[in-house]
Amino acid sequence: MKRLYITEIGNSAENIAGRLELREMGKPVPRSDEVLIKVAYSCICGSDGHTVRGSLGDFSDRLRGMLPMTVGHEISGVIESVGENAKRMGFAPGNRVTGSPMQYCGSCVFCHTGKENFCQNKIPRMDGIAEYVCWHMSQVFKLPDDVDLRHGALTEPVSVAFGAAEMVNVRLGSRVAIFGGGGIGQLAAQVARLAGAALVAVIEPVADKRTLALRLGADFTIDPAAEDVKTRSDELTGSLGFDSVIEASGAAVAAAQALDILTPDGDVVYFSMYDPTFMLPLNLFWQQYWQQKHIHGMFNSNDIFPRVTSVLNRLELESLIQREYPLSDYEQAFSDQFTGKYAKVMLKCNDL
Ligand code: ZN
Ligand code: ZN
Repeated sequence: MKRLYITEIGNSAENIAGRLELREMGKPVPRSDEVLIKVAYSCICGSDGHTVRGSLGDFSDRLRGMLPMTVGHEISGVIESVGENAKRMGFAPGNRVTGSPMQYCGSCVFCHTGKENFCQNKIPRMDGIAEYVCWHMSQVFKLPDDVDLRHGALTEPVSVAFGAAEMVNVRLGSRVAIFGGGGIGQLAAQVARLAGAALVAVIEPVADKRTLALRLGADFTIDPAAEDVKTRSDELTGSLGFDSVIEASGAAVAAAQALDILTPDGDVVYFSMYDPTFMLPLNLFWQQYWQQKHIHGMFNSNDIFPRVTSVLNRLELESLIQREYPLSDYEQAFSDQFTGKYAKVMLKCNDL
């Protein structure tokens, strides 16, 4: 079987490209708690792009010490074989599944208090761009019959959009603003619509992404390169600001604007991979003392996945898959990812 490795991490500041290599190796054999998944599709995550390009400052330095490293975590596939315990838990060859990249220990204080995403012994399994993955059964989720494998591969990014929308209390009648019309932003707009938002605005400089957002659930878009985001937000909200702001762009300017367009007592969430040296300017007197604005971070957890898979068929996922390549064309796929033009770039890892 083949699995993709990062063998060199680039340096985006100095325009040095990273290097990827598709390596041939033996098929893994599942241990008792594991399932072997024949991967159908694997999507490239924004975080994968940052990792390869080396755009994460000193965090990239840390990653350089881990080379060669596997990559990818947004997968769908079909179970080929199961370990003894996994079989007992109801997994069987032929199950159509997706998964979360995180394996939790189940025994630390965070796991015991419902905060498994901060598990002290978590094992990230970022090896999804491959023909097969062997994952712990606790990370694997069956797909409903009416969700095809192409769309099932988007479960993890949908879970991020879903988690972000819940973090900022998107609900019936909410006014919601989303910065960034990439994969997560487009999904967040749809999730907000599904949750009953009254007004959904997507703030995005790329014209094609604004058009897509309008088609997929946004009521309005704002071009931050041509329009003043605060003025336009005031127009759209009658100067009230947005109840919920999802910052899905990872851009420093957007991170600061997100607070400016938030209504008093509103909620904003930051979860992108920002430049690790970026510090958010925050005016505690106006934003916090007078306006009680709630600032959230988010690191997603596995417990959201069963709910996410159950609503996949309520989302329009096909138009987000804007590039698709066979696994062997991984270089083209990643160079498309680096352009920042496409919502989702997908690799087909097996014919299933
Ligand atoms: Zn992802
Ligand atoms: Zn734990």
